Amino acid sequence: MSFRDVVNQQQAKSFLKSSIAAGRVANGYLFHGPRGVGKSTMALAFAKSLNCEREDPDGCGSCTSCKKVARFVHPDVTLIFPTSGKKEDEEIAAVLTERSGDRFYVHAFPHSASIKIGTIQALRMDLASGVREGRWRIVILAYAEKMTPEASNCLLRMLEEPPARVTFVLTAPSRRVLLPTIVSRCQAVRFVALAAKEIEKILVEERDASPEEARVVAGLSGGSLSTALDLKEQDVVEYRKENLDRLKRINAGKPAEILNVAEGLAAARDREQVRRFVRLALLWFRDVLLVKYGAGADDVANRDMMNELTQQAGVVELAELRRRVNVLEDIISSMERHVDLSLLLSSSFLKLSGVVEDVGQPLDTVR
Ligand SMILES: [Zn+2]
Repeated sequence: MSFRDVVNQQQAKSFLKSSIAAGRVANGYLFHGPRGVGKSTMALAFAKSLNCEREDPDGCGSCTSCKKVARFVHPDVTLIFPTSGKKEDEEIAAVLTERSGDRFYVHAFPHSASIKIGTIQALRMDLASGVREGRWRIVILAYAEKMTPEASNCLLRMLEEPPARVTFVLTAPSRRVLLPTIVSRCQAVRFVALAAKEIEKILVEERDASPEEARVVAGLSGGSLSTALDLKEQDVVEYRKENLDRLKRINAGKPAEILNVAEGLAAARDREQVRRFVRLALLWFRDVLLVKYGAGADDVANRDMMNELTQQAGVVELAELRRRVNVLEDIISSMERHVDLSLLLSSSFLKLSGVVEDVGQPLDTVR
């Protein structure tokens, strides 16, 4: 994994490269942005570049140091990520082995996994011995939001008195999910969602997807490569059918049925599944909008469903489409806060269907 392996993220890339070139390496970085857009790959590329024996800004890839980073055996580069606690060493070894063999590796771990105080304490002891063979010690804390409160406080103490020639790279979906005191000690580096075209290209070139499948999957991924790779493993057409059926039931406008759909989704307690449904619905309405403006099958994500899209484009007004898109986008942003999923989905889906018109209208006024 070198800077070249990170898809897009030009701003983050040039910022990091110029920091190295100018010899201005911070003690802490926070790489924040959507899941699966290259944050930890970039962190590893950064580690490689900082210690490359040939001082190649891209990490030459062939010196001893670069090779050790790639195999996760460099004594100065530590990658920490959430674990579920049982047989931790085996879990870590398995992840590192898989990761070193796949530059688009997707790290899936159970919701209950965390970065524990013991791990951070062990790290602190380890850092006391200083730099071992490279120029910098790099500690990558992937999914830093999964640190327990005790682990966060322990890390904070290290960030307050950073050991010499150590740089911490934290990755997280946003700045809000970490302690403000940690955030303020890190240089924030923003990562952006990838373009659907970029994801499509990877799926076709690296994962043997057909162009049609790649297009649907990329459209549904919300700009996250790891979501796209997850989706690729599923039957996308079946998955889309299931979610479009939900959308149809909502659009039909029967309150009891709408609440059933909301309950069904909320009961699974899988926020990622909800996000995917919302993304799929957004994509659908975006397609309807495009068709309304005269777009053809080549311009839409659901290119194989032009008949349905044309039919909807003929009956749904522009203002109504915009309204529905707003309701759906609100669901995504509300989910960032820890709201009650069932309540959020029930009220949002009623709004989506037009059963409830005003945003703040209480549920018991449903007609
Ligand atoms: Zn090198």
